[in-house]
Formats: sequence, C-alpha cells, structure tokens
Amino acid sequence: MAIMTTTSSLAFQPVLERIAEEIERTPGRGRPADYIPALAACDPRRFGMAVAELDGTVYGVGDWRQPFSTQSITKVFTLALDLAREGDSLWEHVGREPSGNPFNSLVQLEYESGIPRNPFINAGALVVTDRLHTRTGDAAGELLAFLRSESGNPALGFDQEVAASESAHGARNAALAHFMASYGNIDNPVPVLLDQYFRQCSVAASCADLARATTFLARHGIRSDGSRLLSRSQAKQVNAIMLTCGTYDAAGDFAYRVGLPGKSGVGGGVIAVVPGRCTLCVWSPGLDERGNSVAGVAALDRFTTLTGLSVF
Ligand code: GLN
Repeated sequence: MAIMTTTSSLAFQPVLERIAEEIERTPGRGRPADYIPALAACDPRRFGMAVAELDGTVYGVGDWRQPFSTQSITKVFTLALDLAREGDSLWEHVGREPSGNPFNSLVQLEYESGIPRNPFINAGALVVTDRLHTRTGDAAGELLAFLRSESGNPALGFDQEVAASESAHGARNAALAHFMASYGNIDNPVPVLLDQYFRQCSVAASCADLARATTFLARHGIRSDGSRLLSRSQAKQVNAIMLTCGTYDAAGDFAYRVGLPGKSGVGGGVIAVVPGRCTLCVWSPGLDERGNSVAGVAALDRFTTLTGLSVF
C-alpha cells in the first residue's frame, strides 16, 4: 500500500530519505559510461534525487545539488523547443515509435530511409538539433538559455571537457549524421551539427536544476514565468514520447516499473514527470547495459510505489 495517502508536499522529504537509505543498502550500481572518457571516472556510489512541485519548490536528498553531465536528458528540452517553433512538420523528419534498439544504433536508419524512429535516440536527436539550429542559429545556446531560466540557475553551463571528449570519440554520432545527410534529412553542415549536439549533451546541471527545468511538462506546457511554451496537446505528446521512448530499448521495462514519462542520459541522470503534480530527477552514474542508471531507475520505481503517484 502507498505510504502517502494524500499528496501533501511535506510528505515528499521523508519518502526521499527512505529511498536514499534503501539505495545505500543496495549492492551493485552498474558502471559509468566509458565510451565518453570524461564520464568514465564518475563514482557509481554517488546518488542524488529531487522532487519539484509545480511552483518550483524543490525537495532533495543525497547529491541532489551536485552538477552532473545531463547528456541525453537534454533531448527532451530541444524537442520541446523545436516543436514549439515548427509544430507538426517536425514529424515528417523524425518518427514517434520506440526503436527497440540501442540509443546509438544505425541499423534501422537504412531500412527507414534516413528517418529516425524517435527524437530520443541519438539519430532522432541529431535531426531535432539540426532543425532547431536552422530556426535559431544557435540550438545549444537556445537550450542553455531555456534551462537557465526554467531552473532559476543562471550559472548553468556547458562542460567543455565533456564536449571535447565526446567530439574526440564521436565517430558513431558522426556516422549517424552523415548517413541521414545522405537522405537529405540534415540541413546544416555535419561538423556544425555535431558541435551543437556535443555541446547540448555536455550541459552540467544538478537534480534540483533539472527537476525544476522539467516542471513545464507537469504544468501542461506552461513555463515558470507563466508564458506558454507548448500547447496542452503538445505537452501531452512530449510526455507520451518520454514514456514510450525515453529509456531506449528499456522503455517497456521503465513503464512497467516506474509508470511515468521519463528520460535518461548516460551521465546517470533520469528525469520523470507526474503530469499536473510534480517532476523528479535522480542521478547515480552507474549504468545498466542499456545505458540507464541502475540506482536511478530503482529509486523512481520506489518513489511511485511508495507514493502511488504514477500515470497509471
Ligand atoms: N552524448 C551521448 C551520445 O551521443 C548521449 C547518449 C545518451 O545519453 N544516451 O552518445
């Protein structure tokens, strides 16, 4: 039975503390991503978790104020920023189906004529960043400005070491971009796009920052200043794609265990949305073989089980 019989905010802190204690006792945390050398040195025992209410009040535990590498979590924000500008024509260039393949897979692209399955695998995110860059002239800068304003943290920035490390080991993302360019699905020169994409992935932010920055999705598209970024329907669509595609080829298991729209990154962070109620961000750098944080998913699983807060 859920321990929070009401959804009173004050009840969040004890729930977070209980989860942190349980995680602390759990052996086996997975391994940090090693294909990006700058991430490989992270200690897998680090753990932080934050919950943000719709008004931006944040509760947290552990390393919840420690900045980490956001990586693919940023794909949610670039999707929202591009969708807000171009609307449904985006879907002529990227699909909305789970891929059932690893996040950096090339195989489906040839069968499906250079149209990636969804915006959250790397190929799809490259398309979204390309389109946002065409519209704004600075996709990564647009993303950073949005994250700074929604998190209320003007100090957020790119981690140059992570961006350089990814660029130096970016052959697979370069292959994805060139391959899609051969189908006419990329507008900008590939080196320009890759620079934008690697900077986007390198943003360093904490659980508190990301939980706050995600609240527009729990507020059905309304930003922290009360202006609207996405229509109610578009916010629903982004949440739906997070649920079905946000954790790659583990999205079915994530829905089964957590029951919330979520998005992971290989830095070990995961964000999740309880529409109309709150947002969450959890960080622990040890990953499973699909690139999702082991302790992060376990903590979200415990949160929805203990509170009963889920979309199901
Ligand atoms: N920057 C990483 C990459 O392109 C992002 C992947 C991820 O977080 N899943 O490989």
